[in-house]
Parts: sequence; structure tokens; C-alpha cells
Amino acid sequence: MKRVYNFSAGPSILPEAVLRRAADEMLDYQGSGQSVMEMSHRSKVYGAIIESAESLLREVMGIPDNYKVLFLQGGASSQFAMVPMNLMTGSGKADYVLTGQWATKAYKEAARYGDVKVVASSKDKTFSYIPKLDPATFTPDADYFHICMNNTIYGTKYHTLPDTGKVPLVADISSCILSEPIDVSKFGVLYAGAQKNMAPAGLTVVIIREDLIGHAMEITPTMFNYQTHADNGSMFNTPPCYTIYIAKLVLEWLKNDIGGLEEMKKINEKKAALLYNFLDSSKLFKGTVVPEDRSLMNVPFITGNEELDAKFVKEAAAADFVNLKGHRSVGGMRASIYNAMPMEGVEKLVAFMEQFEKENL
Ligand SMILES: *Cc1c(COP(=O)(O)O)cnc(C)c1O
Repeated sequence: MKRVYNFSAGPSILPEAVLRRAADEMLDYQGSGQSVMEMSHRSKVYGAIIESAESLLREVMGIPDNYKVLFLQGGASSQFAMVPMNLMTGSGKADYVLTGQWATKAYKEAARYGDVKVVASSKDKTFSYIPKLDPATFTPDADYFHICMNNTIYGTKYHTLPDTGKVPLVADISSCILSEPIDVSKFGVLYAGAQKNMAPAGLTVVIIREDLIGHAMEITPTMFNYQTHADNGSMFNTPPCYTIYIAKLVLEWLKNDIGGLEEMKKINEKKAALLYNFLDSSKLFKGTVVPEDRSLMNVPFITGNEELDAKFVKEAAAADFVNLKGHRSVGGMRASIYNAMPMEGVEKLVAFMEQFEKENL
């Protein structure tokens, strides 16, 4: 059997211990005589799985009791519409910060449903930084204020949150969920596609303050109304059963093997520092993000020469460091070093880059 070092931005690497456990339980889940893939979502045995996934998520993230956890489908991209349809019903206004492609997509979708303002953008420098925000420019009566917390494609992250006062802060945390502790009480809504740092594709997690549920626009499809899913324990229809089960295993791994999000953060900081320190000292490679806004999860870098970039990606893949090509919209390279990437994977990548630098400088 062969396992590569997988630096994919998503769907992405999962902890090996989780994959082994899933394999062990594949044919006969805990004496049920069935795979989790095959069982009714209304069965007692599956009920215990989804309940455990939610309670583990609440415990690991420290989610307060006045927040609902919803297990949905449609990806983070569906939330680009679901957020405005459910929240933009007071003043009909919302503020957005454009820090990359996902934030821009969220903004464009919201603009179909109300009066949406771009408070700031970092497009002028290819989204290589997080704009400094001035609360004086925020819409005081906005129904919410939207950010994309970690910008998967460009490798930036908010290290301080905007102070939006009474206006609920809504954040897309698809590529940084579970990477470090987060103060959920500072947000109205958090949402994430699970396939970056939590589970395989198919699950979308929404964490929403209860008072923000129940105000959806009249036109909102039943399936797009948070109330529908909150009232039915994420079981209004068939949930993504198997993906929720893998998320449960990932959360058990985080809690028991890693020791929680404080510990996860320390490990992620070590991994990221190793790579960034190398990039800062390299004569061939360089990071593309301003140091103060760097992501812990997605690390884009370039050589400055497209042919050399392509050569690097090809030789890296041949050496089993895969999915290092940058996003098609920006080029260069990107190493996504999510929770499941072991320290050893980053150490070996850096050693490979050092060798490549010697041979190509
Ligand atoms: C991947 C990603 C998305 C899109 O997620 P889907 O689940 O494919 O819709 C949105 N936002 C961020 C920050 C992402 O990383």
C-alpha cells in the first residue's frame, strides 16, 4: 500500500487513524451487521452517530447553548444564498469584505436578494492581504456583516475580527474550521463546507445563534430555511449520513489523539512556521502573502518563473508530494497543510524544496 503526502486544498487529507477506523467498521458497524452507508438515517444506531457528532463538535469548539448546529448539504456555496435569504430581512442591507474569490462569490449571490455594500477589498493586490477595516464605514443598520475568515485560494486569514457592534458577524470558515480555537459567541453565523478540514465532501456545517432563525424571506425554499433544519434536528430529509459519521471520527481524533483545539493550534503553528521560515530564507521560493495576514492552513508560494513552477510541481508529484499546484486563477504553488497533515509531511516537503533550490538556482 502507498500513501502520498497530499497537499490538496479540498477535498483534502484525512487523519490516517480515522481512515483505518472507518475501514475496520466498514462492513459491520459496531455489531449492527451493516455499513453506516447502508443504514436508515431514522434508525437508533444512526441516531447515536449524528447525536455524538453534534455533541463532540459542541464540546471541541465550545459552542454556547444558544447556538444551533445544523448538518446540511449544498456546500459552503449554498450558504452564499442561504445567509441573505434568512438574515437580510430587517433593513434588507448587509456589508461584505472582499478578500478573495469565495468572499466575492458570497457577495455577488447576496446582491441578488438585497442592498449589499462592499466595505473593503484587497483585489488591488491579488488578495494578498486582509484590508484594514474602519468601523466608521460599516452600515450601522445592516442585518449582518460577512467575512471569509480564511481565504483558501490566496492564503490569507483574519487574525483580528472586525468590531461590528450589534450587527451579527457572519463568517465562512470552510478552510479554517477546527484548526484553532474560535470564540463562537463573537459570531451570528459560522458556516463551513466540511471537505477541507473536517470530513469528506457532502456535509455543510452551520452554527447559528438561535435568535437569527425564523426570519427568512417569504420566497425562501423550505430546504433553504434554517428553521426547517433547526426544528428537525438536521433530519428534515436524509442528511449526508456517511460524511457525518466520518466527521464524528475526526472529532474523536481531535479530542482524544490531539487533545483539543489549543493543542491543534500549537501543532498547526509549528507546521506553518517551518514552511514560512523556509520561504522567507529561500533564494528561489517566496510566499505571496504579507506576513501579518498569513494563513495557518493554505500556504501559496512562487518562484517568479512559471516554467520553474511547473517543473517543481511535476518533480514534487513524482516524489509523492501531490496537489501542490496553485489554484487555476492564481498559478504558482500552494501547500494546504490542514490538521491531518503530519509534521513529518511538512518537514519532508521543505527538505525537497531545499534540494530543488540547490539544483535550480
Ligand atoms: C472551498 C470553499 C468554498 C466552497 O465550498 P463548497 O463546499 O465547494 O461549496 C467556500 N468558501 C471557502 C472559504 C472555501 O474554502
